[in-house]
Amino acid sequence: MTQFGNRNPGVFDLKVYGNISKVHTPEQMRERDLLQSVATDDDFRRHTAEYNARVRWCIDQGPEYWPAHENKHRAPGDDTNFIFKIPPWHADGSVNPLGVPDNRFVEPVLPGFELPIEYDSKTGWNCHKCQEWISLPPRKFEGGVEPDDWWWCLTCRKNKPKLTARQKKFQAEVARIRDIRGLINTGCD
Ligand SMILES: [Zn+2]
Repeated sequence: MTQFGNRNPGVFDLKVYGNISKVHTPEQMRERDLLQSVATDDDFRRHTAEYNARVRWCIDQGPEYWPAHENKHRAPGDDTNFIFKIPPWHADGSVNPLGVPDNRFVEPVLPGFELPIEYDSKTGWNCHKCQEWISLPPRKFEGGVEPDDWWWCLTCRKNKPKLTARQKKFQAEVARIRDIRGLINTGCD
């Protein structure tokens, strides 16, 4: 069987970053994965706290340690607080993948994009067709004339009989008259 391998390790880093980064072996990476698999939420929290404390220290030192994120490897601290008991960087400040844990926490949903998870029996409305209670926050129709099934439940909307061409024409006429009346009424104000 053909064995594929990188015969020139470090070449990428040399070309892109101008130096050869320290490379790690697959065995070391496996060890890291194993350690991570037993890490608890508390381990992750301690890791993040230690990381932030080092950045904080740099900020407090003054301009010599700024930008803080690029100097955190110069800050003192307790390496055993890190998940892998080593810092996520090398002595020169470059990233050490063996010390970087995978993202554990899913980023919170942006404000305004949350789903209405909390069930509130008081929030909602009755379907205007079958009177079935719909527990969703009421939402006004935006942009033009409100469709006549806007306040219907999903079932009623699905079972809504198709209008005949004649009915559609009639509806359009009603809408047109309403529009004209609306214009007249606002004009008289
Ligand atoms: Zn309904």
